[in-house]
Amino acid sequence: MLSSAFVFGSADQAAAAFRGEADAYIYGRWGNPSVEELEAKVAALEGAEAGVATASGMAAVTGALLSRVVSGDHVVAPLAFYGESARLMRERLPRFGIETTFVDATSVEAYVAALRPTTRLVYAETPANPTLGITDLEALSAALRPRGILLVVDNTFATPYCQNPLRLGADLVVHSMTKALGGHGDAIGGGVVGSRGLTEPVRDLVVKGLGGVLAPFNAFLIARGIRTLALRQERACASASILAQRLSEHRAVARVHYPGLATHPGHDVARRQMRAFGSLLSFELTGGLAAGKRILDEVRVVSHAVSLGDVRSLVTHPASTTASTMPAELRARAGIGDGLVRVSAGIEDVEDLWADLASAL
Ligand SMILES: *Cc1c(COP(=O)(O)O)cnc(C)c1O
Repeated sequence: MLSSAFVFGSADQAAAAFRGEADAYIYGRWGNPSVEELEAKVAALEGAEAGVATASGMAAVTGALLSRVVSGDHVVAPLAFYGESARLMRERLPRFGIETTFVDATSVEAYVAALRPTTRLVYAETPANPTLGITDLEALSAALRPRGILLVVDNTFATPYCQNPLRLGADLVVHSMTKALGGHGDAIGGGVVGSRGLTEPVRDLVVKGLGGVLAPFNAFLIARGIRTLALRQERACASASILAQRLSEHRAVARVHYPGLATHPGHDVARRQMRAFGSLLSFELTGGLAAGKRILDEVRVVSHAVSLGDVRSLVTHPASTTASTMPAELRARAGIGDGLVRVSAGIEDVEDLWADLASAL
C-alpha cells in the first residue's frame, strides 16, 4: 500500500498504537501491509517463524550482524563470498571494534579453529560467490550450538527453492531479494528470517532506527515475483546444470565450478543439503584475463551485467568488476582467478544460451 502515514480511527486508538497495545499501522518506516505480506511469504518459504524486509540485501546483512554483535566481539566469515558483505566485515566493522577472521568456508574444521572466546557470530554463504564453494551447514551448526554461537547464512544463491538453512541448523537467514526472489531485475530489496526473537531486533535497528526500510512498491514487485519462483528456479537450475556439463567438456575451459558436477569438491554435501544445485556457475578460461573479458563482449543472448537470479541470463568477470575491491592477494587466496567468469542462468531456452556461450568461447 503506497502510504507513508495511516489515518487513526480515534485519539484513543492512536495513543494505544503508540503504547503498542493496538494493532494499527502508524507510519511506513514502522510497518506497511504490502511489506508485511512479503515478510510473511519469505518466512513461510524458509520455514521461519518471522521475517523482516529491508531496503536491500546489504541492509539485511548489516542488520543481521549489528543486531547481534558489539564492540569487542569477534566474527568468523568465509574467505570467498559476496564482495560487499566481505567489505562490511573487512573494512567497516573494524571501525566499531568488531573483528572478523576469514576462513576456508568449505572446511568446518577451519571455522572451528578460528573460534575465540569472544566469537559471537559465524557467517556462511553457500553456494558462495563466485566460486560456488559449499559449506556443510548441519556440521557447522552442530559445532556452534553447544558453544552458544549464532549461525547466520546468506541463502541468496541457493534460494529457498533449493535449500532451507534454518532446517539445517542456522539461526538467521539473510536474502538479497533483488535477485531470484524478485527475479525480474526491477527492484532492490532484502530480508532476514528466523525466530521472532532474532528478527525483531533487526527490524528495530536497521529498519526503524537506521532507516533501511523497503519501499512498499518494491515489496509488491518482489511478492509478485515470488509467485513464479519455483517455475523460474526449476528452469534455471536445469539449464545451469546442462551448461556446467557442456562447459566442462569445452577445450577453452580449464575448470567449471558447479555443485551439481560430481567433480565439485562440495558435491556430496550439496546433494545432502540442497534440493537442486542452483542457477549459478562459474568457469575458468585457459586464456586468463584477456579471454575472460573477450567473452563478455561477444555474448548476445546472455547479458553482461552484475546481479543474478534474473529471468535473463547474466554473465560477469569478477576479477575486474565485483571482486576488484578485494586486495589482489586475498582474491588469489579466495580462488578468484583472472580467467574466472560467472554465469547466472535465466529462463531462456538452454540451447540458445549454449549456442551463445559456445560462439563466444
Ligand atoms: C546481491 C547480494 C547481496 C546484496 O544484496 P543487495 O540487494 O544488492 O544489497 C548479498 N549477498 C549476496 C549473495 C548477493 O548476491
